[in-house]
Amino acid sequence: MSLATKVQNSLKALTSPKANDRVFDAVTFDRAVMKTYGRFPLALERGQGCRVWDTDGREYLDFVAGIATCTLGHGHPVMVEAVTQQIQKLHHVSNLYYIPEQGKLAHWLTQHSCGDKAFFCNSGAEANEAAIKLARKYAHVKREIENPMVITANASFHGRTLATITATGQPKYQKNFNPLVPGFHYVPYNDFEALKAAVTELDGDRPQVAAILLEPLQGEGGVNPGDRDYFQQVRQLCDETGILLILDEVQVGVGRTGQLWGYENLGIEPDIFTLAKGLGGGIPIGAMVCKAACDVFEPGDHASTFGGNPFVCGVALAVCQTLMRDRLIENAQTRGEELRKGLAAIAEKYPNLVSGTRGWGLINGLVLNADAPVKSIDIVKAAMAQGLLVVPAGPGVVRLVPPLIVTADEVKTAVSLLEQAIAAIA
Ligand SMILES: *Cc1c(COP(=O)(O)O)cnc(C)c1O
Repeated sequence: MSLATKVQNSLKALTSPKANDRVFDAVTFDRAVMKTYGRFPLALERGQGCRVWDTDGREYLDFVAGIATCTLGHGHPVMVEAVTQQIQKLHHVSNLYYIPEQGKLAHWLTQHSCGDKAFFCNSGAEANEAAIKLARKYAHVKREIENPMVITANASFHGRTLATITATGQPKYQKNFNPLVPGFHYVPYNDFEALKAAVTELDGDRPQVAAILLEPLQGEGGVNPGDRDYFQQVRQLCDETGILLILDEVQVGVGRTGQLWGYENLGIEPDIFTLAKGLGGGIPIGAMVCKAACDVFEPGDHASTFGGNPFVCGVALAVCQTLMRDRLIENAQTRGEELRKGLAAIAEKYPNLVSGTRGWGLINGLVLNADAPVKSIDIVKAAMAQGLLVVPAGPGVVRLVPPLIVTADEVKTAVSLLEQAIAAIA
């Protein structure tokens, strides 16, 4: 029996009502868990480095990393140590009190970025909520704008709360959840003329636009890198008007792009930026970082019970320090180049299916032809059968976002498994 057939049989066994004790029982799972996710028939139970194992003991090379989240991969000794130490010492208290680990992480973030102040929450959506609230308050108190507007981009992704699905310029995430939150307007990404026209129209005879919220590279929207010229023009427009530039770095921040922050690829600095995914290496933490001049929050303006607790901050700080100590940003650059070369070779070999590759550092997309007979999800499934985990970024792009500790050998293996997957369905 070939490996691919074995995997396919094991995937079938996983969803079979007769699943035995050893195989995870997806039927019981689906009976009890709300079906908000279209899950692959795969249950993971163990991980080490860039590898994970399913409940049947089968090994996969993990180029998803919890969607660009497991910065240090799985079971990293630094994380094991930080988690153990912090849970023994103190794991949660309230923001009624000073939390030393929160101060240390904020200090690290502000020392290593253009920002001066940080607020901690638990997810990317919450970080963007905080940024939207800060920008609205800034518009009210600093610019006397009564109905502040936030401009975002088509094909963007900013989260799943009501304000952040509204900010997200993709109608499929908003359908059936109206009324949406007022105060948002959408423009095409990487199109400065369109943005400028929108600002002029919204502002009319007095300023209305509080902020422009953009991803430095659109992750969920198809691994679309921001255009350097565009972002520099946006920065200049914001400087001229007093509009705040908010960058959503939730997916690209913390070394993923081969720079510590996504904005470094664009040669500009935001007024506010948001973090989550990679910041804690898989521990749930989000952050909003802003320049001192934007910090208009006062006690009582914003809060989170779990936000910035000793546990998540202690672990996130260890993750950030390890990123620097082990030169993982350089690794993201080098491994990223190797990966893009490998993907480009696949594109050359299968021109009817794949049109090319795009991305920065270790966030990369294999871009399918518009008229390809398969969608990204078909390739994701075929790769899974070969023992490689990858994730779609929309129907036309296969996204590869491995842990930043990935080795040259693992990149080589991933490219070869992906090629076998494509060969199997081509
Ligand atoms: C994942 C993501 C979010 C949402 O983060 P959650 O932690 O799921 O709330 C927001 N913005 C971007 C760019 C993301 O990739």
